[in-house]
Amino acid sequence: MAARIIDGKAIAADIRAEVREKIASVSPSPHLHAVLVGDDPASALYVRNKQRACEESGLRSTLHHLPTTTSQEELLHLVRKLNRDDDVDGILVQSPLPKQIDEHAIILAISPWKDVDCFHPENVGLLVAGNPRFQPCTPAGVQQLLLRSGVDPKGKHAVVVGRSNIVGKPMVNILLQKRDGANATVTVCHTGTSDLGHFTRQADILIAAAGRPKTITGDMVKPGAAVIDVGMNLIDDPTAKTGKRFVGDVDFDAVKEVAGWITPVPGGVGPMTIAMLMQNTLTAAGLRREREKAQPWR
Ligand code: NAP
Repeated sequence: MAARIIDGKAIAADIRAEVREKIASVSPSPHLHAVLVGDDPASALYVRNKQRACEESGLRSTLHHLPTTTSQEELLHLVRKLNRDDDVDGILVQSPLPKQIDEHAIILAISPWKDVDCFHPENVGLLVAGNPRFQPCTPAGVQQLLLRSGVDPKGKHAVVVGRSNIVGKPMVNILLQKRDGANATVTVCHTGTSDLGHFTRQADILIAAAGRPKTITGDMVKPGAAVIDVGMNLIDDPTAKTGKRFVGDVDFDAVKEVAGWITPVPGGVGPMTIAMLMQNTLTAAGLRREREKAQPWR
């Protein structure tokens, strides 16, 4: 039997609507500041999509568009200004950054309370320690896709293919949490894994985040497994209008005949990443209000 298709667009729209409902009682509404350095068209598109999602979710958003020649000191100056500004709830610096800027230095400079991407080491540490302040948007979106499709990770064997800091590692840590919505047994695979299929075939939940088309083929999947494809790979396609199209890491046509659930690309994990950014900005605004109540002299 063919797998059930997990509709990331619909689930993301539900999350945006939930955020909108919660924001209705928050005044002023949470405020996300996005920083875009340079004119990379893909980055500009991502930022535009994030701003559009803010509008749909009832959040305020401000874009700071800096020239490609911006120095590290200039970007740090802006980040510090946003850190101090009480009207800023979340700060997002779109990557990649021009080569003269050390991305790690920028991540370190963002206030951990406004770090809605959850890249700051303090927030990474809190997640690893089992007491997350925020959850990184893409893996948090994967967790929501599973839960809202009726796939509870509890007691399941989840296999994560990829160990990057933005997807693989936080995905492992989210699924490992000893709490509702997680509590899986987790295996992580990478390019050092010998015989990837040996591990993926044991997965009740298989999460592909390798950044390589067809990393997961039909024979690598356990019948009935939930397969979440994080991959976004641009490949040549002469039949497409632009000559290119996005595919995931999973051989969708073959795997959908074996799996129990599967996400498409596009329309699976992608929209969830942005929806979870809205959720994190709402969380950041809530945390700010709690801190203000605890420190009324501020
Ligand atoms: P990344 O930094 O390149 O990491 C890829 C990971 O996959 C690495 O850990 C690598 O192992 C592992 N890997 C690569 N080929 C493999 C193979 N054949 N077998 C086993 N492991 C393999 O990529 P990323 O940033 O995590 O992103 C992964 C994919 O997700 C990309 O296609 C990216 O575009 C996409 N993505 C999508 C979203 C979204 O919102 N939809 C968000 C973020 C990323 P090593 O560590 O050994 O090199």
